[in-house]
Amino acid sequence: MTSLEDKERSIYLHMELLKHACECQQYPSGCSSKTCSKMKEFLVHFYDCQNVNCPLCQRIRNLLQIHRNRCNNEQCVVPFCILKRERIQTSMSILLQGRYQH
Ligand SMILES: [Zn+2]
Ligand SMILES: [Zn+2]
Ligand SMILES: [Zn+2]
Repeated sequence: MTSLEDKERSIYLHMELLKHACECQQYPSGCSSKTCSKMKEFLVHFYDCQNVNCPLCQRIRNLLQIHRNRCNNEQCVVPFCILKRERIQTSMSILLQGRYQH
């Protein structure tokens, strides 16, 4: 059973996680939060993925959509939040660093 409150709570947690992952500078897996590195992987995947029907990307698109609707922070660190190309690249470049450090 999923009550509306549970749904709200789960959305809230995902929003917090999204924000954390974008702010978090611990690479590749220095952050103690496992969900954090998962979220970073998701975002990097979303950035790279060319498949419009990808179910993972649809989930992330959903999350980012919710975030955009709620966010009123002009200095927001979340990529894709403010739809300016430079901003996406700046914030993504931080995330993408982790990719080459295996
Ligand atoms: Zn983290
Ligand atoms: Zn994808
Ligand atoms: Zn934002």
